[in-house]
Amino acid sequence: MAALAHRPWVAEPSEHRVRAIAAATAQRTPAAQLAELDRLVTENRRIHDVDSVNLNPATNVMNPRAEAMLSAGLGSRPSLGHPGDKYEMGLEAIEQIEVIAAELVAEVFGARYAEIRVPSGAVANLYAFMATCEPGDTIIAPPPSIGGHVTHHTGGSAGQYRLNTVPAPVDPHRYTVDVDALRVLAHEVRPKLITIGSSLNLVPHPVSKIREIADEVGAKVLFDAAHLCGLIAGHAWQQPLEEGAHLMTFSTYKSLGGPAGGAVVTNDAELAERVDRIAFPGLTANFDVAKSAALAVTMIDWQVAGRAYAAAMVETAARLADELAALGLPLYGGTTSHQFALSAQRWGGGQHAARTLREANILTCGIGLPAPSVDGDVNGLRLGTPEIVRIGMKPQDMPDLAGFVARGLVEPLEVTADVSAWRRQFSGVHYTASVSTRRQLAVNTSAAQIDPAEASDPAPR
Ligand SMILES: *Cc1c(COP(=O)(O)O)cnc(C)c1O
Repeated sequence: MAALAHRPWVAEPSEHRVRAIAAATAQRTPAAQLAELDRLVTENRRIHDVDSVNLNPATNVMNPRAEAMLSAGLGSRPSLGHPGDKYEMGLEAIEQIEVIAAELVAEVFGARYAEIRVPSGAVANLYAFMATCEPGDTIIAPPPSIGGHVTHHTGGSAGQYRLNTVPAPVDPHRYTVDVDALRVLAHEVRPKLITIGSSLNLVPHPVSKIREIADEVGAKVLFDAAHLCGLIAGHAWQQPLEEGAHLMTFSTYKSLGGPAGGAVVTNDAELAERVDRIAFPGLTANFDVAKSAALAVTMIDWQVAGRAYAAAMVETAARLADELAALGLPLYGGTTSHQFALSAQRWGGGQHAARTLREANILTCGIGLPAPSVDGDVNGLRLGTPEIVRIGMKPQDMPDLAGFVARGLVEPLEVTADVSAWRRQFSGVHYTASVSTRRQLAVNTSAAQIDPAEASDPAPR
C-alpha cells in the first residue's frame, strides 16, 4: 500500500500513473530504491542525451562545468542576509559566489540590478507582480492564443497573488499584441502592470509603444523573457530594458542553458529595492547557492560565446522552418527568433502531434495560436533550437531533421531508429567558455566534456 492518498481532483490517467509508481515504491527495500533511482537517472540520460532530438525550446543541455557546481557542496549551506552581513557563520566563500553571479547577470543583460535569489521563472514573475501591484489590482497580459503564460493569468502566480488579469488584444497578422487596441483597453481598465513576452515569440514585441501606453495610465511594464533571455543575452534580439520595460524576468534553463531557476533584472532603483525585500526576507530565507554558482558559469559562457550561440539558434530555426515548409508542413507565419510553430489542425492538435513525434524520438510540445481551435487540444506545435544547436547541429543539418519531423508525424515508428542513429553524431555541449593556455577565455565551439580536474582547477594546464 502506498502512503500517498488518492487525490480525486487529479485527472484519472495522471492519478492512475502516480498510484502505480507510489505502490511500486512502497514495495522496495532501501537498497532496491537506490538502485531504481540510479536506473531512472540512466534512463533519462538515454532518452535525452542518446536517443532523442529535443526540439522543445523550453529546455537545454548545461555546460558540464556549470552542472558540476550543482553537486559541489554548496546547495545545503544556508545563506541568510546580505553579503558582508550574513546571519550564519562560515559564508565567506558563498557570499562571494552570490555576488559574482548577480554581477555577471547584470553585465550580460545590461542591467543595473539583478536578483538571482529566485527559484524559478514563475516565482520571478511573482516577484515582479508583488513589486508593482497590490492584490485586487488589474494587469494586462498576453492571452494563451499568442503564447501568454499561465503565470500571468488566474491559475498562475498572478492569480495566486489575487491579481485580475485582462487579456491583451491580439494582432492577428503578427504574433504579438495590437498596440492601438491595447491603448484603448489600458485607458478603460487602468492596469497597474502591462506584461509582454510569451512562451512562443516570433517577432520582436512593441516594447517602447507599450511603455508609452503604460506611462499614459500610470502602469509599469514587465517583459517576460523566460524564452527570449538567451537571444537577449546574445544580442540577437531587442533589449527590453533599453526599450522601456521596467522589469525583465526570465527562466535560467531554457534558451539560457543554465540551471533550473529564475532571475529578475531592472534599471529602476525603487523596483530593485522592492524586489530585494521580496527575495529576502520576503519569499526566500536561504536560497540555493549551488544554482547561483551554476548560473555564474553559464553567464561566463554567454560573455564569451553568447553572440555566436544566439545567432546560430536564430539561423538554425529559420532554416528548419524553411525546410519544413518546403516539405509541405503548415508553418504558422514564420520566425525571426529561435522558435516557431506549425498549425496542428491536421494532426488533431499540438499535443496530439507531439505525442506522435515522441514515438519517433523527436521531442516537442503544443502551443496556442490565434487560429481556428481544435477540440480538446491546443492548435499549434512549437519547435525551437536551443538544445540542438548547443549539441552541435548546424543549419546544414536541418534538411535531414526536417525530413525526420515530416515522416515522424505520419509514420513515427518507421523513423525512430533512424532518428536516434542520426542524433548520435552530435554530442557534448558547444558554445562554452574554455580557459586557454594563455589564461584567456576563448570561444569553445567544440564540445565541452566533463573534466573533473579542470572543473576544480581553472589554472592553465
Ligand atoms: C516557462 C515560462 C515561465 C515559467 O518559468 P519556470 O522557470 O518554468 O517557472 C514564465 N513565463 C513564460 C512566458 C514561460 O514560457
